[in-house]
Amino acid sequence: MKIAFFDTKPYDKPSFDLYGEKYGVEWKYFETKLNEDTAELANGFDGVCAFVNDTVNAAVIDRLEAMGVRVLALRCAGFNNVDMKHAYGRLHVLRVPAYSPYAVAEHTMALLLTSIRRIHKAYIRSRDFNFSLSGLTGFDLHGKTVGVVGTGRIGRVFIDICRGFGMKVLAYDKFPVEGLDNGDTVRYVSMRELLENSDIISLHCPLTDETHHLINAEALERCRRGVVLLNTSRGALVDAEALLAGIKTRKVGAACLDVYEEESDLFFEDNSGHILEDDTLARLISMPNVIVTSHQAFLTEEALSNIAETTVKNLVSFFQNGQCENELCYRGGSAEDCRSGKCF
Ligand code: NAD
Repeated sequence: MKIAFFDTKPYDKPSFDLYGEKYGVEWKYFETKLNEDTAELANGFDGVCAFVNDTVNAAVIDRLEAMGVRVLALRCAGFNNVDMKHAYGRLHVLRVPAYSPYAVAEHTMALLLTSIRRIHKAYIRSRDFNFSLSGLTGFDLHGKTVGVVGTGRIGRVFIDICRGFGMKVLAYDKFPVEGLDNGDTVRYVSMRELLENSDIISLHCPLTDETHHLINAEALERCRRGVVLLNTSRGALVDAEALLAGIKTRKVGAACLDVYEEESDLFFEDNSGHILEDDTLARLISMPNVIVTSHQAFLTEEALSNIAETTVKNLVSFFQNGQCENELCYRGGSAEDCRSGKCF
């Protein structure tokens, strides 16, 4: 089978070539992102493979359908960039629900430690033989309270890591996980309680209509002064303007962002020779207490290998059996309807 692979980066190829060859999937790598202008490139292919910042809106779906492309294999877990309602009946959407929750949770902790122990500052200083410690005072994580929003695969690994540091965990999830709340070091609370009582808040829920700008001016108002905000989930969970305002008023002590609402035209690309048009991002990056990484949390060897293997197996399963356990259905995001044939 021949698949058009969009938004290709050099680090994608080794594992996709390996598993493609093993299972008979032929890739045509395109560096461009999938959108209304580039969908035409998929003409003559059996399917398309897309990533987090490809645009799969109604126009793109219609174009793919018209060209006879039946399947979209997402090589990521999140699918907020796909118009799932419009895809219904037109395009089968497969995804990689989990590839390494450790990669993302460990990156989240790496950001937190870098920020609060001022490692990003110390690294630059010592390279300049500036061995002064002034301004590098941090704080212990031991005994602090971390609020974890979303206790799915990544959130739970992050909770385990935090517990290893001797932190207390306040968790919030729309669908709490049985057995996680131990009534002591890990407790499920309301979102309001989490905001009001956490020293650090980490976001691990999906981006939906309900969670859009979950952290806005009102939410920040409820937070403790000096709260540290971690977002390695999706940019639009946070209202970036409100965050910037919170940093300026010193309400927010630090922010670590691996994702940003308007990241799609910037992240993953080298923009070092360009003038950044996004004033909010530029201002955030200029803050001494903000660390931004460009959607890097997933990027480990283990995750890349797992992503490629699952994407290839999804496609093989779909083309051989007409169904795939990782197919998404907008009616609840479950593969059940698709498996039972109700979907198409
Ligand atoms: P998951 O599906 O295992 O867990 C998500 C959790 O969020 C679930 O427990 C769910 O019940 C909960 N949830 C759903 N709606 C909610 C709401 N309104 N309020 C609170 N909680 C809600 O997903 P996961 O594998 O843990 O991934 C979490 C998120 O991480 C993904 O949605 C994705 O956006 C992000 N992610 C980022 C990267 C990266 O590189 N930065 C990589 C992978 C995933």
